Amino acid sequence: MHVENTFLDPRADFQPITIKTQVRADPLTGRTGHFSHFGAIKPQKLDLDKYLEPQIKGFCPFCGDRRNHVTPMFPEGLFHKGRLTRGEALLVPNLFPYDVYSSIVIMTDDHVVSLESFNDDKLYDSFSLGIDFLKRVRGKSPSIPYQVMAWNYMPPSGGGLVHPHQQYFATEHPGNQFADEYKAAESFYHNHQVDYWTELIKEEQQHGERYIGQVGDTHWLASFVSLGMLGEIMCVFPGVYCLDDFTDAHVRRLVSGLRKIFCYYLKNDIYSFNASLYWGAEGQQFFPAHFRIVPRTFLNTRDYAPDINFFQTVLQEPVSVVLPEDLGKEVKPYFVNR
Ligand SMILES: [Zn+2]
Repeated sequence: MHVENTFLDPRADFQPITIKTQVRADPLTGRTGHFSHFGAIKPQKLDLDKYLEPQIKGFCPFCGDRRNHVTPMFPEGLFHKGRLTRGEALLVPNLFPYDVYSSIVIMTDDHVVSLESFNDDKLYDSFSLGIDFLKRVRGKSPSIPYQVMAWNYMPPSGGGLVHPHQQYFATEHPGNQFADEYKAAESFYHNHQVDYWTELIKEEQQHGERYIGQVGDTHWLASFVSLGMLGEIMCVFPGVYCLDDFTDAHVRRLVSGLRKIFCYYLKNDIYSFNASLYWGAEGQQFFPAHFRIVPRTFLNTRDYAPDINFFQTVLQEPVSVVLPEDLGKEVKPYFVNR
């Protein structure tokens, strides 16, 4: 839906001006999002070196040998007592758990890791270790239906620690966005005997405006309604209906696509993001795994206003200053094999 506002513009000698904005409804869930203020908010550069200065760095529980003394260990039962490790990645129980099984992957040895320093190994080791943990949890407690990976990267994202880390948890309550999608996808399947996401990919590939590209059998696109101020990109894993269907090859494709997005972010001064990857319950065929990534920024670095305000908190309404079609066009070249 297009909305028009006309006022006398103080920037142009009070001549009348008409500003166009949009309200979109997600075709699956009906959840709406506002699009306005186009181009008015630019991501702010972060001085990453500052995070290494002692007075800013403060106490980091994930740095050096300290992680062995101040992070929790698993009790006997889920696996051998202790922690899990792969390459630089170390998986530990979350000291502040969100659910029955809540873990953190400390991704790197380094405290500050720029997007260009995330190589395939660092990303692969972290994702595959976290997913292995979730698979073990599934074996142990198969009645917990859903699994979630969530990642806050750098302070504008709301992450409390600069040191790269991801969260992995199994849950019956994966959040309202997930729950709404899940219910709507189930009804869609019931009504059309086909899964919504497969249809979405077909449709978006045909239209091309929001479709970004394919990495193996994974599909990357700009969401029709963006969850973030600076847009949102999602990756769908068609046919991957539960965690056990998610193979090593899927991890590699996710990492490969993600690094292309990081290249785009680096070119566009995006220094921070929220990301999630989630899986539906075993036995269903309407909710394939999908990944979302949303850039985050301070609105300015004078008073560090965040890019979330009453819209997102009390109205629960996303607002975006980037049209998904423009984002799709901009990111597409990064997915062309060169
Ligand atoms: Zn650290």
